Amino acid sequence: MKKVIMVSACLLGLPTRYDGKSKPNEKVLNFLKSEDVVVVPFCPEQLGGLPTPRVPSEIQGGKGWKEGAKVLNEKGEDVTENFYLGAEISVKIAQFSNPDFIIMKERSPSCGVNYVYDGTFSKKVVSGMGAAVYYLKKAGYRIISEEDL
Ligand code: SF4
Repeated sequence: MKKVIMVSACLLGLPTRYDGKSKPNEKVLNFLKSEDVVVVPFCPEQLGGLPTPRVPSEIQGGKGWKEGAKVLNEKGEDVTENFYLGAEISVKIAQFSNPDFIIMKERSPSCGVNYVYDGTFSKKVVSGMGAAVYYLKKAGYRIISEEDL
């Protein structure tokens, strides 16, 4: 049976990022081409109802997503509910597609696996995970970043 791999959409070259651009990753694309797999693209921030392009957001507090975390965009608007909803729908997609593993975009407030920005919009990176990664991990899915591949 073919492996199923969910992948952050922007890593595949889909223009889902906050700036309306993509972040195609050669390593990810080459890996997926070399394997006999079914690829399931997803973008938690779009799934959470945020527009594209959108104002960039960061998880507050400098520790990534935890229960009760708050996410603000650069204008100071609270977008926590969008991040929570995007994470919840991502888990539902995983339940439907039953992935062998998931590849997600490092440092994103939704998709960061090991690192995220610290919440001050100053490009400072801290250890921690994004909202969708937190709930997908909690649901038992195996996740790696494009840098771990
Ligand atoms: S939320 Fe994830 S998939 Fe969507 S653009 Fe950001 S890093 Fe890519």
